[in-house]
Amino acid sequence: MNTEKSTEMFSVAGNLMPGGVNSPVRAYRAVGMTPRFIDRAKGCEIYDVDGNAYIDYVGSWGPMIFGHAVPEVVEAICGAARRGTSFGAPTEGENLLAQMIIDMVPCAEMVRLVNSGTEAVMSAVRAARGFTGRDLIVKFEGCYHGHSDGLLVKAGSGLLTENVPTSAGVPKAFAAATLTADYNDRESVEKIFKEYGPNIAALIVEPVAANMGVVAPKPGFLQFLRKITAEYGTVLIFDEVITGFRLAPGGAQEYYGVTPDMATLGKIVGGGMPMAAYCGRGDIMSTVSPSGPVYQAGTLSGNPVAVAAGLATLKKIREDVGLYDRLEEKGRVLEKAFTDAIDRYKIPACINRVGSLMSVFFTEGPVETYGDVEKSDLTMFKKYFASMLEDDIYIAPSQFEAMFLSDAHSQEALNRTVRAIDRAFSTLPG
Ligand code: PLP
Repeated sequence: MNTEKSTEMFSVAGNLMPGGVNSPVRAYRAVGMTPRFIDRAKGCEIYDVDGNAYIDYVGSWGPMIFGHAVPEVVEAICGAARRGTSFGAPTEGENLLAQMIIDMVPCAEMVRLVNSGTEAVMSAVRAARGFTGRDLIVKFEGCYHGHSDGLLVKAGSGLLTENVPTSAGVPKAFAAATLTADYNDRESVEKIFKEYGPNIAALIVEPVAANMGVVAPKPGFLQFLRKITAEYGTVLIFDEVITGFRLAPGGAQEYYGVTPDMATLGKIVGGGMPMAAYCGRGDIMSTVSPSGPVYQAGTLSGNPVAVAAGLATLKKIREDVGLYDRLEEKGRVLEKAFTDAIDRYKIPACINRVGSLMSVFFTEGPVETYGDVEKSDLTMFKKYFASMLEDDIYIAPSQFEAMFLSDAHSQEALNRTVRAIDRAFSTLPG
């Protein structure tokens, strides 16, 4: 495969941006390869600057539930841009999008639009602290909630591959207000609440962990979190930046039937543009300025172009009754390809899948906790990744990320992927 131009561009980028990228995982360090510089994408295909075409399972890390360059979304973006790209004043589009979110997401009584998932989480946590008058928060090891100081504690995603338990530059005092429990381990949560319960403002969780690879909640785990937080007057926040609109129109809270007090949304809500949101109970959201004393603002918040992209995407989701069944079916096809290849070549691996989110882990499994995730053989992952890329299948360059399916993945694309999975596993040591 010719990667001459990507290699050249990456070498130029290295002198211009830290690690040559604007977000760490893009640098391909975990797989020791050169990242592909992307020229364009359409449907389920992504094209690099050397003219290679790949079937894309990164999907911009989640937003592309309908694939790339969806005509309705592109039209909406162009139409909005022609009317002006930013006003710093209220628009009707914001009303429409907020109403759409309130209609779709069970916990949403009020919404605030922001620019990134990081900002959504940071702001939701601040609102929860303002509402409760408490300082402590609880998160789970391996769950990633963006890069704000207080949440870079035992975080997932790029931080797992970089092997940095927390980030340099985060004052100890910030991290001290963040307590960490083990995902899917009730006892670890009970212990924390027994000791600190009355001082815990919020518990934040990815309802399906997707930043340590995909790890589903054990049956009853989310219900348990709902119960214990209610008992202690702690705000339960579902970080649905990945799961929101992906598992169901109302996200994981609809999928699992557990309603949190607040939720953070990102990725799909912006239709591929930089936008995110936090939402929740009216009494909590009313603490946010200018209604209440919790300050949060943004020059580009509710940006009309991003709002138009988000609205077009959510509208398409609402109108498409068969969407989640189709995604489930496509997910099943790939899951079967993985389990068949694991059996055929006797590879110590397992597959976790929830709807259109999945990860293969190179350990026998089951993978239910962060401790299980850590057992995964990263050398094996590297070989698997290289083989898939060679067969034009573009997946995340890290064991600790999800594979994102879209509605644009055709039967033909899935068939090619199934063959690539088989070939990749045939080369691995069983
Ligand atoms: N929360 C979750 C669950 C995420 O997966 C991410 C990013 O991947 C974030 C928050 C941060 O979002 P952003 O990268 O838009 O700041």
